[in-house]
Amino acid sequence: IEPLLHVEGLKTYFPIRSPLGKTVNYVKAVDNISFHLFDGETYGLVGESGCGKSTTGRTILQLIEPTGGELYYHGENIFKADIKRRRELTKELQMVFQDPYSSLNPKKRIGSALEEPLRIHEIGKSQKERTEIVLQLLHQVGLQEDYYYRFPHEFSGGQRQRIGLARALAVSPKVIICDEPVSALDVSIQSQVINLLQEVQQQRGLTYLFIAHDLSVVRHISDRVGVMYLGNLVEEAPTEELYSDPLHPYTRALMSAIPSPNPNVKKERIILKGEIPSPINPPSGCVFHPRCPVAMDRCKKEVPEKREISSKHFVTCHLI
Ligand code: SF4
Ligand code: MG
Repeated sequence: IEPLLHVEGLKTYFPIRSPLGKTVNYVKAVDNISFHLFDGETYGLVGESGCGKSTTGRTILQLIEPTGGELYYHGENIFKADIKRRRELTKELQMVFQDPYSSLNPKKRIGSALEEPLRIHEIGKSQKERTEIVLQLLHQVGLQEDYYYRFPHEFSGGQRQRIGLARALAVSPKVIICDEPVSALDVSIQSQVINLLQEVQQQRGLTYLFIAHDLSVVRHISDRVGVMYLGNLVEEAPTEELYSDPLHPYTRALMSAIPSPNPNVKKERIILKGEIPSPINPPSGCVFHPRCPVAMDRCKKEVPEKREISSKHFVTCHLI
């Protein structure tokens, strides 16, 4: 099957400049990652903060310029398209942010905030038609009609996230990049928002890239999961396979930190030594080698290649 979205060799480096503006180095936030999103699936992207998950999402949406690599949508290279075509294609990709409040104008009523993307993309022939679309959106995300007139500060965290979703849906996207959409919410509210995301996905046939550091949430919602470490994708597998049989030493350590649901089964927690190195001068060879409990000599010199272990299960490690 053709993937809907295909990320190939994506790199996003941020230049570090001297006071006189000369580029002296780069933060290698995303360093050569490749993966696919298939139509209708949810792909979870996990890893500790600073590993490049959000930057990956933002680069796909072109909120950040890519340094290298390709992005194919329905087989068409978005990065190589001209500005007009790029805008058309990017309209099909939307984002739900961790904190929708920061992207809402506090002085604007929700109704008009939701109409904004409609006006920008010339959706709806009249003001009346746009208002009707917004009321439908409010309904779809479980908010009452009279919320149309309210201001962002009148909403709870969970309601704001519903507004964030409504705004993403306004332009009828095919793909939504959810960047930590529930991590700022109380646990009880988290499941409501997750359920809503799943409902809307069913109704509209959406594809999700679900970025989060909470491994239980990701397990619940994802069909496949990719694990990032220091700008690299180190393992990728169907969700249950990854959680029950993690292969990469980093994934094993991450998974070992999830408490076992059965208190009689003692899990051994793998504690990694040291801190995550700086993405400015990432370690040579395998970027994980300074912290890897099973590193070998060659790991310092040779960059491991991504290899397919079983159907849809990829690992980037010399040992596997
Ligand atoms: Fe560890 Fe070497 Fe595998 Fe990297 S390549 S994860 S350092 S064993
Ligand atoms: Mg982040």
